[in-house]
Amino acid sequence: MTATPDLLAQLPVTAMKGVGAALAEKLLRLNIRTVQDLVFHLPRQYEDRSRITPIGALRPGLSAQVDGEVQLADIVIGRRRSLVVRVQDGTGTLTLRFYHFNNSQKEKLARGTRLRIFGEARLGASGLEMYHPEYAYLSDQLPPPSDTLTPIYPVTEGVTQLRLRPLIAQALTRLTPQNLPDWLPPSENRGWSLIAALRYVHAPPNDADRSALVAGTHPSQQRLAFEELVAHQLSMQKRRAEMRANAAPALPAAVSLQKKFLASLPFPLTGAQQRVLGEIAADVTTDKPMLRLVQGDVGAGKTVVAALAACHALAADKQVALMAPTEILAEQHALNFSRWFEPLSIRVVTLLGRLGVKARREANAEISSGSAQIVIGTHALFQEEVVFRKLALVIIDEQHRFGVHQRLALKQKGENGLLVPHQLIMTATPIPRTLAMSAYGDLDTSVIDELPPGRTPIQTVLVANDRRPEIVERIRAQCLQGRQAYWVCTLIEESEQLQAQAAEATYAELQLALPELRIGLVHGRQKPAEKAAVMQAFKNGDLQLLVATTVIEVGVDVPRATLMVIENPERLGLAQLHQLRGRVGRGAEQSFCVLLYQTPLGQLGRERLGIMRETTDGFRIAEKDLELRGPGEVLGTRQTGEMSFRLADLLRDAALLPAVQNCARQLLQSDPQAAEALLTRWVAGREHYARV
Ligand code: ADP
Ligand code: MG
Repeated sequence: MTATPDLLAQLPVTAMKGVGAALAEKLLRLNIRTVQDLVFHLPRQYEDRSRITPIGALRPGLSAQVDGEVQLADIVIGRRRSLVVRVQDGTGTLTLRFYHFNNSQKEKLARGTRLRIFGEARLGASGLEMYHPEYAYLSDQLPPPSDTLTPIYPVTEGVTQLRLRPLIAQALTRLTPQNLPDWLPPSENRGWSLIAALRYVHAPPNDADRSALVAGTHPSQQRLAFEELVAHQLSMQKRRAEMRANAAPALPAAVSLQKKFLASLPFPLTGAQQRVLGEIAADVTTDKPMLRLVQGDVGAGKTVVAALAACHALAADKQVALMAPTEILAEQHALNFSRWFEPLSIRVVTLLGRLGVKARREANAEISSGSAQIVIGTHALFQEEVVFRKLALVIIDEQHRFGVHQRLALKQKGENGLLVPHQLIMTATPIPRTLAMSAYGDLDTSVIDELPPGRTPIQTVLVANDRRPEIVERIRAQCLQGRQAYWVCTLIEESEQLQAQAAEATYAELQLALPELRIGLVHGRQKPAEKAAVMQAFKNGDLQLLVATTVIEVGVDVPRATLMVIENPERLGLAQLHQLRGRVGRGAEQSFCVLLYQTPLGQLGRERLGIMRETTDGFRIAEKDLELRGPGEVLGTRQTGEMSFRLADLLRDAALLPAVQNCARQLLQSDPQAAEALLTRWVAGREHYARV
């Protein structure tokens, strides 16, 4: 089937007046290749240009338009070379700072040159500064400040707002219903044709509802957001349909093996575990690949469910792969699964990055011969050299750490490369329903919404950092009573090295303060073997206090640990804090979590940490996180990278999602051509949607 393409999508930008090869290449950085891409390069926000602000009235954080006269333009060699331009208007002075510039630009900014400048004021090294502001030369011909809302576009080096604006305006004049048809059913158009909506958002008229536009809730914007979300939903549903079109091994019920397994557990399953297991069984007994996401709060007992799901494949004499995001977690699973399954004569093999060449070769040999029945590992399982003989089920723990594409890569690993394995994805990140609909639109979901009985809820307290000595005393007392504790160091920097340094410093400090305790240190810069040894020592109880970075976030299970101190909790997302905190409170004893924050803690910080004190319900925390920090924080950056929208905003537009889902479903059934066209228009060609 070939969809009628949008014609402007075939017209390269160079077809426009004033666009040559050089500019075209720069536009490429914005993913703009065609005239249509220009039209779909949508404003990120709007600025009100109806007035000129005196420089003296600027405040940090304020986006404003000012007129000023250049006093000085100089190239400064600091940490980075920058062009620094000082301007004044009689009410004050302002520094403009450019990291990307050329010499001719500097020459044109001679002393006395008058400029109209637009940008966001910040507090910099030399007082108020604007970084890479937009500016034009103020000559007598310059029109008075315009009365329209000015769209602000995503830009890149060498393509400024001023350069983009006329290009987009030119592209808009080319739109016709023939070259850019409406593919949504008219009933879903909300009274706006696509073209009318596009024109409106790029160039809102003077009497437009400014506050709605700025908030992104104007009907024209909602019309476009709806279409974009439909396209996104279509891509998920299509991916799902493609996956489900493959054949998978139909696995029979595994009653006797499951019975044996359950008999070896010291506890019965919870009702929620049983229900989810039933949902899994219904999937894997068919010859279509299961695509199921199991959500369950930390400690809900997902691992046991994974093991029981594995029984289906094992009873049919097939292989199971279990993939974890970190070596620590893979080790822990390996330990559990060996303990559970080796007594049942089932061979468990671990494949870790740190295995030597020989051990790895042996593991691979067992995997390809089929003698390895359960294979546990990290990303190492994705490698090409790993060839399964009869893989029937892939279990992925903590999905948010893996991208969709890695998941799809597993497709190739099935039996003879023909049968596609069933997929079970486990996540402890509670995902609000609306978000799940979008983020995991290609998966069925199950929720383990009940914790095993006998857990005592964790008590969380907020303590200011100046009371650190008290906390150290508390650790001493607890550990001397035979309990164990975590001390988690966090840093805002992504750098593992800085994280490791911070943890090392705290480790040294605590060793000095608590000489009678056995203290360990674990961070991401250690060799995997070293890390694993420390974790093992902590699990065994040989260490009483473990100083760690957030590497311990996921899945590590030490029931005797009942106290956790988290430094600088204000720097982390709530969902992440919840994950961390879930490392304690795994036994019947009362556990405590101390959030040791830096003062002063702002209003928002107080509100956020307050939620942690109030509740241990992961879903409530996730909802709040979503509300306070947006989807990126809830899903993790990798996941949101795969979900970058041009205009839609999952939080703002959540109310649209049920209708979006319906519309996508109906289109796929009744008008596949329109579905394909919408997909191409909004989604295809954006690299993160590249087909696997
Ligand atoms: P998570 O969902 O965070 O992966 P785990 O599977 O690690 O949770 O389980 C947490 C702890 O709860 C483990 O020690 C596990 O043995 C225990 N557990 C799991 N299911 C039950 C149950 N039904 N009753 C009691 N304890 C359980
Ligand atoms: Mg787990």
